[in-house]
Amino acid sequence: MRDKKINPIYDGTVIDHIPPTKSIQVAQILGLINHKSEVTIGMNLSSKKIKIKDAVKIENRSLSGRELNKIGIIAPNATINIIKHGKVIKKFKLKLPSNIERIVKCKNPNCITNNQDTHTLFHITNKIPLVMKCHYCERSLENDEFDLV
Ligand code: ZN
Repeated sequence: MRDKKINPIYDGTVIDHIPPTKSIQVAQILGLINHKSEVTIGMNLSSKKIKIKDAVKIENRSLSGRELNKIGIIAPNATINIIKHGKVIKKFKLKLPSNIERIVKCKNPNCITNNQDTHTLFHITNKIPLVMKCHYCERSLENDEFDLV
């Protein structure tokens, strides 16, 4: 089975190999719902790497490091393709960031990060399924429990 390609774009970013159904969350992270650029969300595409994948294609938009880190939490192992003038000029695989800083909210209402002007910071304690622990109160958060900042 060959990877299904979504229509090529001239300038922009393609986020490929997103786990099935996670593309909507990725689009939300990027604020693409209200973005003026053309956005294509492909769901449940066939893929030889991960069998079924989602992909998001954004015209005329590049992603910041912070946005890439956020996507890395929702879709670790996604592939980012940066396209200029119809050619892929950069292609790389996302990784889970080692420190999750200012990305995820702590669920503990008494945590210092919810009561003082302190940035959230989590450390990854397990990759699959993803589990992370708050640096300050040690509350653990598991997959799909994340509220992004
Ligand atoms: Zn905490």
